[in-house]
Amino acid sequence: MNFDVHAVPSPSYIVDEGLLIKNLEKLKSVAERTGCKILLAQKGFSMFAVYPLIRQYLDGVTSSGVLEARLGYEEMGKEVHTYAPAFTEADFDEILSYSDHIVFNSFQQWNKFKERVHNHPKKIECGIRINPEYSEIEVDMYNPCFTHSRFGVTLDNFEPDQLDGIDGFHFHTMCEQNSDTLERTLQVIEQKFGNYLHQMKWLNFGGGHHITRPDYDIETLERSILHMKNKYDVDVYLEPGEAVALNTGFLVATVLDTLYNGMDIAILDTSASCHMPDVLEMPYRPEIIGAGLPNEKAYTYRFGGPTCLSGDVIGDYSFDHPLKPGDRLIFCDMAHYSMVKNNTFNGINLPSIVLNTLHDGPKVVQQFGYDDFKNRLS
Ligand SMILES: *Cc1c(COP(=O)(O)O)cnc(C)c1O
Repeated sequence: MNFDVHAVPSPSYIVDEGLLIKNLEKLKSVAERTGCKILLAQKGFSMFAVYPLIRQYLDGVTSSGVLEARLGYEEMGKEVHTYAPAFTEADFDEILSYSDHIVFNSFQQWNKFKERVHNHPKKIECGIRINPEYSEIEVDMYNPCFTHSRFGVTLDNFEPDQLDGIDGFHFHTMCEQNSDTLERTLQVIEQKFGNYLHQMKWLNFGGGHHITRPDYDIETLERSILHMKNKYDVDVYLEPGEAVALNTGFLVATVLDTLYNGMDIAILDTSASCHMPDVLEMPYRPEIIGAGLPNEKAYTYRFGGPTCLSGDVIGDYSFDHPLKPGDRLIFCDMAHYSMVKNNTFNGINLPSIVLNTLHDGPKVVQQFGYDDFKNRLS
C-alpha cells in the first residue's frame, strides 16, 4: 500500500499495477516453462483498463457467455474461450463471432449447436466439459462436483460416439486450491477419461488454481502440466480468475458515524451486500490494514454498511485508537470477485475504480453515479 489514502475517492477499489505485474510474471513463467497457455477468467476480474497490461503476459480470456466474450474480444484481443452451462439460440451467432474455443456442458448442447459451429467461416475449436465427480471443496456453494451438480458430463453420461468434431476436454473442479489437489484430480481424470484424451488436441484444467499465493507449490503444477502434455500429446490451458488478481487490490472506505448498542458500531460508506457480497456469501472476513481481531486491540467495532439490510455487516474489528467520522479504512484483497459482483441495491452508489500506477500513483479510471443506478431499473 503505497498511495495516499486521502487522495482517492471513497469508497473506491484501488488496483495496484505493481502487485498485478508480480502475479502476471509468476503466471507467465509457468507458461514459459511448461508451454501451457493461461487465460484470464473474466468472471473473477474484468477491470478492462488493465487488459493492455494483462495482454503482455497471458494468452487471452475465458468467458461465461456473450457479454464476457465480447468484452474479451474487444478489450483483450487475444484468444477468447467461452463456456456456459447452456447457450441460448439468440446469443449463439454472436458468441461464434467472438470465440476461438467454445466448451459445451452436455452432448445435447453440442449436438444442438455443432452445425452452426461448422457453418461459421472461422475455424472454432470445440470442447466438452467433463465432470470427474471428484473435488476437494467442502462448501457445496463452490463445489462444481457436488451431488446433482449441473456442470459437465459424468462418465455415466459420456458418449464416446459423439466425439467427432470435439477437439478438447475441459474440467473445472477446484476453488482456491493448491497443486496437490490438482494432481489428485488429474489421476481421476486419467482413470475415467484417459482413453478418450489421446484423441484430443487440448485439455483445459479450468480455474481455482491459487498459483500466486505465497505457499503455492508451482513445481507440482508444472509437473502435472508436463505429465498430461507428454502422455496424451495435448495442449494444456489454465484459466485462473482469482490467481490473476489475488492480493492486488484494496477497497478504501470512510467511517460515516459511530454509535453504541451493546457494543461499538461504525457505519461505513461501503456495504458488504453491494460492494463485497462474498463477505456474506462465502462467507469470509476481509483483512483491514491496522486492525486486529475483535478485542485483540483496545477498541472493537462492528462495521455495518449504509443500506437498510440488517445483515449488511462486514465484521468485528479492533483498533488501537477510537474511530471517528471521516477516518479512512483500507480493506485488503478486494480486486477479484468484487467489482464483477457489485450492485446498486438500496440505491447505494458503486465504488470508484482507481489504478495505482507504477510511475504516477493513483489514477481514477471510472466513477459512477445516478445514471448507472437508474439504467438498470427500467
Ligand atoms: C470460476 C471459473 C474459473 C475461475 O475460477 P477462479 O477460482 O477464479 O480461478 C475458471 N473456469 C470456470 C469454468 C469457472 O467457472
